[in-house]
Amino acid sequence: MATFEESLDILKRYFGYDQFRPGQAELIRRSLNKENSLGIMPTGGGKSLCYQIPGMLEQGTALIISPLISLMKDQVDSLLTIGIKATYINSTLTKEDYIERMQQMQRGAYDFVYIAPERFDHHGFFDAVSRINISFIAFDEAHCISQWGHDFRPSYRSIVERIKQLPLVPFIMALTATATPEVIKDIQSLLAISDENTINTGFKRDNLHFHILKGQDKQTFIKDYVSHHATDSGIIYCPTRKNVELVHGMLLKKGVKVAYYHAGLPEDKRVKEQNKFITDEAMVMVATNAFGMGIDKSNVRFVIHHSMPMNIESYYQEAGRAGRDGEPSDCVLLFSPQDIQLQKFLIEQSQLDDEKKQQEYKKLQSMTSYCYTDQCLIRYMLQYFKDTRAHNDCEMCTNCTAGTEKVDRTVDAQKVLSCVMRMNQRFGATLTAKVLKGSKDQKIKQFNFDQLSTYGLMKHLTEKQITQFIHLLVAEGYLETGDQRFPVLSLTQKAVDVLKNKESVWLRQQTIKEAEVTDYNTA
Ligand code: ADP
Repeated sequence: MATFEESLDILKRYFGYDQFRPGQAELIRRSLNKENSLGIMPTGGGKSLCYQIPGMLEQGTALIISPLISLMKDQVDSLLTIGIKATYINSTLTKEDYIERMQQMQRGAYDFVYIAPERFDHHGFFDAVSRINISFIAFDEAHCISQWGHDFRPSYRSIVERIKQLPLVPFIMALTATATPEVIKDIQSLLAISDENTINTGFKRDNLHFHILKGQDKQTFIKDYVSHHATDSGIIYCPTRKNVELVHGMLLKKGVKVAYYHAGLPEDKRVKEQNKFITDEAMVMVATNAFGMGIDKSNVRFVIHHSMPMNIESYYQEAGRAGRDGEPSDCVLLFSPQDIQLQKFLIEQSQLDDEKKQQEYKKLQSMTSYCYTDQCLIRYMLQYFKDTRAHNDCEMCTNCTAGTEKVDRTVDAQKVLSCVMRMNQRFGATLTAKVLKGSKDQKIKQFNFDQLSTYGLMKHLTEKQITQFIHLLVAEGYLETGDQRFPVLSLTQKAVDVLKNKESVWLRQQTIKEAEVTDYNTA
């Protein structure tokens, strides 16, 4: 049986590293004991080594299941470079190559075979795999197995049933960088992984500086940012194909070396544009969320989101494509309230059933609250992922560096909360803001809200400021919106305590102005 010392030796001799990163040794130890395990480690945390080292130590062929076709080739190439027998089997192969590799695999010629999940649906492939000596099976991007994950793939899940029919699978290793507690539970139960064998090093990425900018002219910001970071590589995510083409055209006109990518482009064009970015022929990639899965570019210095994405899982994964080399990098989200409408529209248009849509609305609400919270942005996200370890404020994000002290906003909060109560907790932020502003809107008259004692109680503020303050109260858990399509405000227990003067509300003064974004060229 292989020993832990041997795995350290491989780390040094083959990969040139002196020590394991957090989580790696723990996962390797489990695999040496032939125990199933789950690793949750941040992007760039070094997940590949966790299965590569056991694969080099164990007898037989390790099957690495990965949805990332483009990454398979890179991984196989780097293993071949260090003299390890590896290959991949996916839809990009010619028939001849496929047959050749299948034959080699059955002869036991490979230590590693990377496979796309869909492969298991082919009878011939499954039969062949049943006859080989498997050392173990690793599931990369394991969150794709779970229905609760943001990137669920049915073919991934069906493998779970299929591998149960294989004669001998000594153990399984699952790896992911994004998993909420529901997803973790789901993976654990599907793959029979105990809590003790679940290694969670957390998601925290110390080198990422998160920023939220509100009320910006998005095009102008992007143009200025890119021109200030001309030597940096970065990705700009846009919500629609049309936005991608607009931003791409604008940067092209400015003489920026830019590529673009969305699902509407022909396959060959997509590959070409992607390659331009990977080889640094283009410094900037403008893309929809179709771009990025499987892109292993370590020197991405910034990821700008033109608009708010649909949930925090997607945001953290997309933003996390910055700084995989550990160097400081910016993640900028340009937020405007219209982004919420766009995401709702996209959910409505989707093919999801009603229950799934409700889940998406709930996630969208957390994403929106991220844009309004006054807490440390990283801590907000870690809380969302239920990473309960104690984390200090990052001191780098927009909120940590805003410089504004927290002020006592109890009285303002009480005005909003009592207004929500008087409106019978049946309306959303927009109408509530109108009542507090004392608006003469038709709807106000219609419901006789101009008769309420809270009517016009905040008339010194603009409707926009009041709405923003209401969103802040939602983000901080004083108000809830449920998970309905039309978010109706209701009071939480925290709000009741505020109304009874049992709790006071200290918040940072929110600004709609631009915040500073680090300029690493001059810093
Ligand atoms: P992930 O799949 O978790 O995003 P990778 O496996 O691609 O991360 O690893 C990211 C980078 O970290 C790679 O360049 C890898 O060689 C490097 N790396 C992995 N393990 C170690 C280690 N123990 N010490 C130093 N660098 C490491």
